[in-house]
Amino acid sequence: MSGSRKRREEDRSDSAAGAPGSPPAGDLKAENEALKREITALKASLAAPEGYEAVLEESDEKFRNLLQGIYEGIILNDDKGVILEWNTGMEEIIGISRDDAIGRTIFEVASRCVPESNDAGDGKKWLSAIIDTLDRTPTSRSHSPHLEIAVKHPDGALRTIEVKNFYYTVLGRTFYGGIVRDITDLKMILENLSEREDELNNLIQSSSDAILLTDEEGRITKFNKAQERLTGLAADEVVGLPAWEFQALRSSPKGPGLDPLTWYKEIWDRLLHDENDQFYREIVEDDITSTTGAVHHVQVRAFRIPTKKGFRVGAIVRDITDLKRTEVALLESEKKYRTLIEMSPDAIVIHDGGIILYANPATAHLFHASHPENIIGRDAFTIIHPDSQAISRTVAEKDKEGISTLPTEIQVIRKDGTIMTVEGRGRRIQYQGKPAIEVILRDVTERKKSEQQLREYAANLKRSNEDLELFAYIATHDLQEPIRGIVAYSQLLLAECRSDHSSQTKKYLENIARDGLRLNTLVADLREYLRVRSGGRPFAPTDMERILQDTLHTLHRQVTETQATITHDPLPIVQADSSQMTQVLQNLLANAMKFQQKGIAPTVHVSASSLDGMWQFSVRDNGVGIPEGYFEKIFILFERLYPRDTYPGTGLGLALCKRIVERHGGRMWVESDEGRGSTFYFTLPVTAPESSV
Ligand code: ADP
Repeated sequence: MSGSRKRREEDRSDSAAGAPGSPPAGDLKAENEALKREITALKASLAAPEGYEAVLEESDEKFRNLLQGIYEGIILNDDKGVILEWNTGMEEIIGISRDDAIGRTIFEVASRCVPESNDAGDGKKWLSAIIDTLDRTPTSRSHSPHLEIAVKHPDGALRTIEVKNFYYTVLGRTFYGGIVRDITDLKMILENLSEREDELNNLIQSSSDAILLTDEEGRITKFNKAQERLTGLAADEVVGLPAWEFQALRSSPKGPGLDPLTWYKEIWDRLLHDENDQFYREIVEDDITSTTGAVHHVQVRAFRIPTKKGFRVGAIVRDITDLKRTEVALLESEKKYRTLIEMSPDAIVIHDGGIILYANPATAHLFHASHPENIIGRDAFTIIHPDSQAISRTVAEKDKEGISTLPTEIQVIRKDGTIMTVEGRGRRIQYQGKPAIEVILRDVTERKKSEQQLREYAANLKRSNEDLELFAYIATHDLQEPIRGIVAYSQLLLAECRSDHSSQTKKYLENIARDGLRLNTLVADLREYLRVRSGGRPFAPTDMERILQDTLHTLHRQVTETQATITHDPLPIVQADSSQMTQVLQNLLANAMKFQQKGIAPTVHVSASSLDGMWQFSVRDNGVGIPEGYFEKIFILFERLYPRDTYPGTGLGLALCKRIVERHGGRMWVESDEGRGSTFYFTLPVTAPESSV
């Protein structure tokens, strides 16, 4: 390493040396200066050729020591690529010893350092590409002349190195050099740091709490998404603003006549300078008005991030508007609930294993106690009648387990010894943070008495009804005989006075015979009506489709005469008295054809559908229809809408059908559009009741 250097080389190494944060370049500058001094000394010594060799050797020695002493790796090679210098720094960084490197070409050595992932090709190509890049790298102060390369250590580990090159010419020969620094660890630290920063940023951004960070001067540096949602301001609008200016925009001081900016500036002055400020110790509540005008109630917690310059301030803001609203609603509902309980006419007791924890005023009243407090702490089971002990304990046990129970009647003994019946229903609740049972009790002593009276009354009514029906049945039976007699005798008398054409007597006798016959029909109808219950047969599976076919067979003549079209949907099998079902369908179908519209052939449709555990049958016709006021009347025995000569009949049919359906546990009604047709409905239980009479 001797000889003069051109100014160009000095420029290159100077500019490299001046690169900020580049210690090897600094060393190089010093080395450059030293070399310049050496060259001057050499020039001087050239004048005295006898000392030249010694000086040169000494200088070479110094230079070598200098190279060995620096941390960075230094490599020097000639214009053929033969390595002339390879310092200890290179040995450590590349993992190839000085002896192994010196004398070899840079390409030979490079081939041992090519990382497996390299796609530039073999060692020569790889290194040529690196040299090309380095040559193209500008060396001005504004650009970093360093190149980052991955190299493989002999142990296989990958290292990242930073390389900067230089060259110089001595006595017409150009020499090349490289300064190498191992930045593997630094890179890892930087990568870790950047990962941490990303993590932190993600955390801040994804937080549902609004977060704001400032620098040491109180200028906003971070403003997360939740802050944007809360305030309606975009981070771009806010970052860089002093925090107090931002706060004065969206919040107001809690006091009249205070200027928001002055108020918040004062707060922030304290926050930025006093690390013991109360805001760092307390959670503060505030209102924030968003740009949309919505007011959010928030909780703010301030914290400090110490730095070299002082500390930065952070604030976590939690929107508690909904929480507050729920709290208020809860308080209101609590109040409502309490008022309801206090005002309730029913006794409401909360107990745990029978021990009364709470009793409302109605409970005190029920048990003849002067005040609810007086029964608190008492064992509820002590006032329960021995007969009701077992059931009340069983129910209480179920309530405790959270099993739903039905209202239960129990007997309790009052303070004065009298017994009353109460109906109670309990359920498990949380009372003062512990599980307990809340029971609602109602004094049903009076109700029980009335129920008993009602039951007796109903039984009496049923008996008297049965008596009446029996009486009517016997009466109709007994009436038939004299009526038949009247009809027969009047007909005999009529035959006797047949010669007397103008006789008034004949007319009277005809009237007697006709009315007698009608009376006979009415009595017969009445007997049939009464027989629905007394003469009914037990229920058995009855195929309604077969019943319909039988009915149509019976009504064959009427169907032909009226040219009726009768259709039906599939009909179910029901538990019923089949002959009574025949009566029902017969009456309904006969009526549907009888009450046809003039000149319009009857169209009748029978259908059935299952609804709420019942079969609902319908018989729809296109006949004259029924005025709305008669929808109920037509089901009364002997009620008719038209005179007998318009439509024949006695008014028994529908009353009979209704009685039959009711005997089967169903009901019957009509819907009609006068002039357009009627639909008669009746229901039968899917599971029929026990056949009754
Ligand atoms: P009756 O047919 O002997 O008159 P019902 O008890 O069968 O007795 O019917 C009572 C009345 O209800 C009938 O007189 C008639 O006015 C009315 N009615 C019954 N069925 C129909 C129907 N399908 N269309 C119009 N009216 C009807």
